[in-house]
Amino acid sequence: MDNINEQFDLIIIGGGAAGLAAAVSYGKRRGSSSRYAVIEKERKPGRKLLATGSGRCNLTNLDMSEDYYNDSAKAFVSDVISRMTPERLVSEFKKLGLLCKPDEAGRVYPYSNRSDSVLDVLTNWLEHTGAKLFCDTKIDRIEACAGRFVLYSGNKCFHTEKLILAAGGRVQKNLGSDGSSYEFARQLGLECTPVFPSLAPIIVNDKSLSLAKGVRTAASVSVICGGKKLHTEVGELQFNEKNISGICIFQLSRYVNEYFAGVSNYKKPVIIADLAPDISKNELTDYFYTKQKILPETPVSEMFTGLLNKKLGAYLLKRANISGMDNPISRLSENQLEAIVNIVKECSFEPCAISAENSAQVTAGGVALTEIDRNFRSRKYKGLYIVGEALDADGLCGGYNLHMAFAGGFISGAHAAKEEKKHDKNKRA
Ligand SMILES: Cc1cc2nc3c(=O)[nH]c(=O)nc-3n(C[C@H](O)[C@H](O)[C@H](O)COP(=O)(O)OP(=O)(O)OC[C@H]3O[C@@H](n4cnc5c(N)ncnc54)[C@H](O)[C@@H]3O)c2cc1C
Repeated sequence: MDNINEQFDLIIIGGGAAGLAAAVSYGKRRGSSSRYAVIEKERKPGRKLLATGSGRCNLTNLDMSEDYYNDSAKAFVSDVISRMTPERLVSEFKKLGLLCKPDEAGRVYPYSNRSDSVLDVLTNWLEHTGAKLFCDTKIDRIEACAGRFVLYSGNKCFHTEKLILAAGGRVQKNLGSDGSSYEFARQLGLECTPVFPSLAPIIVNDKSLSLAKGVRTAASVSVICGGKKLHTEVGELQFNEKNISGICIFQLSRYVNEYFAGVSNYKKPVIIADLAPDISKNELTDYFYTKQKILPETPVSEMFTGLLNKKLGAYLLKRANISGMDNPISRLSENQLEAIVNIVKECSFEPCAISAENSAQVTAGGVALTEIDRNFRSRKYKGLYIVGEALDADGLCGGYNLHMAFAGGFISGAHAAKEEKKHDKNKRA
């Protein structure tokens, strides 16, 4: 095996979105005047980046605001997005040769609609600027001594003046990031907030859920804690064997997982779905009464025909405690019709466990933002930067997580290069 003991001006741990952006941003400014490297534990960089946006990479959103990020990150994010607006991010990518286009909701994708275009542009620039790329190299330990850093990976040892920590979060370990960032933070004595999965399916306690397995339906979904509605989303709700999912559920999952991770100030959350969001309760009641009057012999099992998916109908009848599926609907009482209307308009789900990490899109929590300044530089170590999902700044679905990862990469890389130039100038003077 190689016995590497190399010296660098800058090392970036992690060849993901944030790490590659940092490397390119630094390399464009320093180029051959600097020795720098990206160290990646996987066989190739950017595995998670390739999986983003269902292979299309939703890299930012024109509708950008700190409101789309966790509460503790809002002030920090507000400053970052004022300096790296979505338009600026798109223009940074354009300078690298990547054209982008927004969809009708403002979500920005590469013009090719392919995430590999984003990765290719970044890795081509990496090569062009002379970066050294070490793959299949997992950093196990970092030591800081006398203003420098020593990184250990098996029998390899890397020395560097500057270090950009871009090792990602802890979800979907099969795509690379395995929580190393938090271990590095611990080794360097940096504070971390509790980490837990977000943007994920919500596991619910409901034995009849499998009746609706596979159904996708339009819904307005809210998370309620202690009687207070915290957040509502409209979108496609998907029913699975043991969980509910879909983008609208992902957007609510942080509240649920915060509770199960023990870091929530709220009472146990409940999810309420309106499964006929365009129809008022009165209209729905009229619909069922009319059906009962005009088609009294219709079997109860056909109650939802013409309104909702049949499998979903069977599930809702079960949830409304209606039995006798072969009975005619004329036999349903007023109370039973009311129960049916209520379950459609306010179908409640009781979350019962934290979402699985291998089903989540992002890690909430991480290195505390108080540890870094507005250039993502550590307050404790002048040569250290921390970027991307490793930080306690997570956003909603829609390009917000990649925006932060790329913004952190571009800003930190540029700052590290500027600091070095300053240093070179002082040395010459
Ligand atoms: C399926 C899926 C779809 C998503 N879609 C979107 C989307 O469309 N839009 C959006 O905004 N966000 C999306 N996200 C979230 C987004 O991908 C992440 O937030 C973002 O990639 C974080 O970037 P990062 O560079 O911090 O981490 P990563 O992209 O995870 O990169 C970190 C890199 O560090 C490497 N690494 C980790 N530990 C070590 C170590 N010890 N030594 C060496 N290397 C190490 C990893 O292998 C990895 O390559 C999606 C996430 C998933 C899972």
